[in-house]
Amino acid sequence: MSSDRIKIVWIYPDLLSTYGDQGNTIVLERRAALRGIPTETVHLRSDEPVPADGDIYLLGGGEDRPQILAAQRLRGDGGLARAVQSGAVVFAVCAGYQLLGHEFGGEEGQPVAGLGLLDIRSTRGEQRAVGEIVGDVAGELNVPRITGFENHQGVTHLGQNARPFAKVVHGIGNGDGFEGAYNGRVLGTYMHGPALVRNPGLADLLLRWAVGAELQPLDDSWAGRLRDERLKAVVG
Ligand code: GLN
Repeated sequence: MSSDRIKIVWIYPDLLSTYGDQGNTIVLERRAALRGIPTETVHLRSDEPVPADGDIYLLGGGEDRPQILAAQRLRGDGGLARAVQSGAVVFAVCAGYQLLGHEFGGEEGQPVAGLGLLDIRSTRGEQRAVGEIVGDVAGELNVPRITGFENHQGVTHLGQNARPFAKVVHGIGNGDGFEGAYNGRVLGTYMHGPALVRNPGLADLLLRWAVGAELQPLDDSWAGRLRDERLKAVVG
């Protein structure tokens, strides 16, 4: 944490916010506040420079063309890459996840250059992956089984420097039996919308990374009921 508060930077709501991924900012703010940790959230439009002093950078999903534009602007800006070098946390969803990689497939399947902040490559798959996703998270992250919703055409291949975020129990994810990827504190996932509402343990992982310490546990019974309901509906 660079100061007395966690600075959250919500990257390009004008391009990458198609599926309500902005809710992730609210969950982080709330779970920090419940522990007495102040936050400051910046909603960064795509014509503004990426600030270097963020603690957590969030990227959402988007349609193919806004995704390409966002990748071009972020590459040109260079601020996100500098923040990652200084140890910032990045949580990226779907289009945001793909554009963190070396390249991804554009609207005609053409390769589009990404930011190279995660050792992944995405291409367009044969079929759209739409529906519920459930996965068991890599043990070292200490996050319980995740439940989410995915909606994407892309297929993602992990290189040697990226680890799979979760093993798919239900759904498609990357298309290789795993879902998402991470390296250090940069984490991408195909889980849209209420990803952090449905998975408070994942929200706390990002906050833990940002503050560099364990967090006081919270009463998660409501979130737990939602999780249980989704898990029961999807995997029985
Ligand atoms: N355009 C990308 C794909 O279809 C990302 C979609 C999304 O963010 N939901 O794979």
